[in-house]
Amino acid sequence: MAGRLRLRPPRANCDAVKPKRLLILGGTTEATALIARASLIPGLEIIVSLALRTQQPVIRAPNTRLGGFGGIAGLTNYLRQEHIDLLIDATHPFAEQISHHAATSAQQVGIPLMLLVRPPWEKQAGERWLEVASHEAAAQILPGLSQRIFLTIGRQELAAYAHLKNIWFLMRMIDPPAPESLVPPGQILLERGPFDLAAERSLLIQYQIGAIVSKNSGGEATYAKIIAARELGIPVVMIQRPPLPQSEKVTTVDDAISWLRQHQ
Ligand code: NAP
Repeated sequence: MAGRLRLRPPRANCDAVKPKRLLILGGTTEATALIARASLIPGLEIIVSLALRTQQPVIRAPNTRLGGFGGIAGLTNYLRQEHIDLLIDATHPFAEQISHHAATSAQQVGIPLMLLVRPPWEKQAGERWLEVASHEAAAQILPGLSQRIFLTIGRQELAAYAHLKNIWFLMRMIDPPAPESLVPPGQILLERGPFDLAAERSLLIQYQIGAIVSKNSGGEATYAKIIAARELGIPVVMIQRPPLPQSEKVTTVDDAISWLRQHQ
């Protein structure tokens, strides 16, 4: 068998690149889109975390954990114990607390953090916005505005309006308010977006709505009510976004994917 080429047995794969572990803080449409795209990147192990704010969350990732971490200390421990290499905060623009926790914890552990946050809505010609910094400020101006209000803020901050007994509220949310929570007078609509323009226009007319209260969430899914309000000349009390941490930020899923590729 002299001269015959001898093949070496395959080497133990010492040089194989260890996959990076990415934690995505989710709960938004953008997070869901990001998870789908990031799952296609080789060498990434993705873990998704959801707050479990809705009874039937839209989960499209196999490796999903649910519920809070237990503050900054809890999240910091989690990042260490789970050997997380990269963190993306793709939570709702009004989920202020988790975003600040993420910024502090990522810094403490020394891992890169990126915030994916959709751009806010911009006021268009013909729209009447009353911009306020909080629900309390919104509640203060409502009595001078209308007695029939479309309250589209979800279910968590209804108590700020519960003392307004002379106003009738149409309140839209995904799940009903918690049993012990204070709820303003009016009617509750349990619906999950996206909402289309024709339906939003009909709703405002049917319930004779005189003003809308909305968070400046941005995005397409709930924007139709703003267009319908413009068409019907209805004012919008627009709650401004809370300040975000000074982390690296992108506004699109494409840019989030570019960031991930740079950090592989
Ligand atoms: P938050 O005030 O920022 O968070 C409160 C706590 O919930 C956090 O400290 C954390 O608990 C836990 N948490 C939040 N997001 C998490 C995630 N992705 N994974 C694990 N734990 C998470 O946010 P929020 O109470 O959820 O909501 C605040 C505002 O955002 C509301 O106006 C709400 O309508 C809006 N919003 C939130 C979501 C969402 O999915 N979170 C979706 C739509 C709208 P620990 O401190 O125990 O870690």
